[in-house]
Amino acid sequence: MRLRNKPWADDYMNENSHIVIADPFSKKGKWATEFENDHPIHIEIGTGKGQFITGMSKKNPNTNFIGIERVKSVIVGAVKKVKEAEVANTRLLNEDADDLRELFEESEVEQIYLNFSDPWPKARHEKRRLTFKTFLEQYQSILKPDGTIVMKTDNRQLFEYSLVSFSQAGWTLEEVSLNLHDLEDPTNVMTEYEGKFSEQGHPIYRCVVRVP
Ligand code: SAM
Repeated sequence: MRLRNKPWADDYMNENSHIVIADPFSKKGKWATEFENDHPIHIEIGTGKGQFITGMSKKNPNTNFIGIERVKSVIVGAVKKVKEAEVANTRLLNEDADDLRELFEESEVEQIYLNFSDPWPKARHEKRRLTFKTFLEQYQSILKPDGTIVMKTDNRQLFEYSLVSFSQAGWTLEEVSLNLHDLEDPTNVMTEYEGKFSEQGHPIYRCVVRVP
């Protein structure tokens, strides 16, 4: 993702503090209060510029969405999209998802989306992959007992690695697609990267896994 310095980003985020939560750690266990309803909570890790989360929020008004993106100059794009869509069921967190247990109580989340996560192909960077075993432990803790992860990627190596990682940690494989767009799934909402890679003719892989 191309990064530009955006000095106005802090001001823009402060002006939109109803969308980007300034102190999300204080909301742990209280997200239902933040949304003022008990609708299920779905989170996306690595939201990027927000095309997916905005599309999902519009399509699913009875689900609450929280997008987590660590790069400020990127998340401002997502803030703009959420604002323009005028959706009440979406919040954004400018945080590193290094320990989600500080942001969510046990069983507070129904579904997690991992969309086109950075592949970190070098073996010495394995721990940074969002499907490394320590991340799976966090996901298991914050997900409800029947909670799920939906993962999409164009990166076959990361996909294969993740399937093995899920399987070794005891997650149940509910769905695997080696060419998502062949399915013409009307519920699929494309991410920025998904649009770009599928236009270039890359197959898109998707899996859905259930908590152990
Ligand atoms: N999901 C978007 C899409 O599909 O178009 C963006 C994909 S981009 C390759 C990966 C994004 O995840 C980047 O914006 C990166 O900053 C973010 N990211 C990676 N690791 C993260 C972490 N640990 N916490 C929060 N964001 C993360």
